Amino acid sequence: MQQLTDNFNRKFEYLRLSITDECNFKCNYCLPDGYQRSHENEFLSHQEINHLVTAFAELGTKKVRITGGEPSLRKDFSDIIKSVSLVKGIRKVATTTNGYSLQKNAQQWFDAGLDAINVSVDSLDAKTFHLITGKNIFQKVMDGVSACVAAGYKQVKINSVLMKGLNDQDLALYIDWIKTQPIQLRFIELMQTGDNETFFDKHHLSGMWIKEKLLAEGWTQQVPLSHDGPAQIFSHPDYQGEVGLIMPYSKDFCKSCNRLRVSSIGKLHLCLFGEEGVDLRDLLAEASQKEALKTRILLALEDKKESHHLQSGNTGVTPHLASIGG
Ligand code: SAM
Ligand code: SF4
Repeated sequence: MQQLTDNFNRKFEYLRLSITDECNFKCNYCLPDGYQRSHENEFLSHQEINHLVTAFAELGTKKVRITGGEPSLRKDFSDIIKSVSLVKGIRKVATTTNGYSLQKNAQQWFDAGLDAINVSVDSLDAKTFHLITGKNIFQKVMDGVSACVAAGYKQVKINSVLMKGLNDQDLALYIDWIKTQPIQLRFIELMQTGDNETFFDKHHLSGMWIKEKLLAEGWTQQVPLSHDGPAQIFSHPDYQGEVGLIMPYSKDFCKSCNRLRVSSIGKLHLCLFGEEGVDLRDLLAEASQKEALKTRILLALEDKKESHHLQSGNTGVTPHLASIGG
């Protein structure tokens, strides 16, 4: 079988597929004014998604994360989960959600074939959660997280962007929470995008701050597994949960890159930052276009750069992460 590998010997078995850029939250670091449609394109249809994932699976993709915007806003979300999970070669289907409709749908998505779920919970304090996301529904999201655990998901992760002066004081609460919960907390360092420069300057908090606190409190860094990608994972004998740190500004972050992205309008992005994307849409209409599609993906990968150069202030063309799925 063919395997997507780039010029720096990185293997890509993981696809992050955005199915909409629409969102119903107004996270202050992502869409502070709420979603504004910036294009006339239709989002990828269910059939186009099938053709796309089939081609990627034949190129060695084993894991697909369905993301957005907010992926659960799509009415055919469960159907998409189901058909992606049935594509030959796909072993794991995951999603990232803001948790808005999780309580209602956790079981249905699980039954459709979803293996793993990341829920964004940017504060464990209801007021701060409201302040950051623009939604006063902290308890509803937390009930959704409990519904996932009850439904039997193999993996429930919580994403949180810790920010100076906003929710950094929540770190102790989060750590306390996973003492008895088998949950992986993922602290994602705030990234600068085209739209959030001033916000970034005010609130960016280095992941090193969290790492130093963890190490001082007896947490140990795990030897990275190949599927961890760029995350640094920490565990502690007294805690059931784990902590994952995503530190895009750290020196070797890009060395372990294992993912490619396709936007909700069918553009292949080799990196979260810094390029316009390669249009795949004209090759998604018919199953008979599969070989041409695979050739385009393989050719595009030859251009994947070694690093995103975020540390030198590059924000590329990404206005916010809702546009290509975070
Ligand atoms: N709407 C879903 C959600 O929030 O979980 C999925 C899409 S969202 C773009 C995916 C992840 O990206 C979320 O965990 C969010 O916190 C994170 N994110 C968005 N903008 C970010 C930024 N500028 N820096 C770091 N993480 C960001
Ligand atoms: Fe929406 Fe997710 Fe962006 Fe928040 S982080 S505004 S939930 S896309």
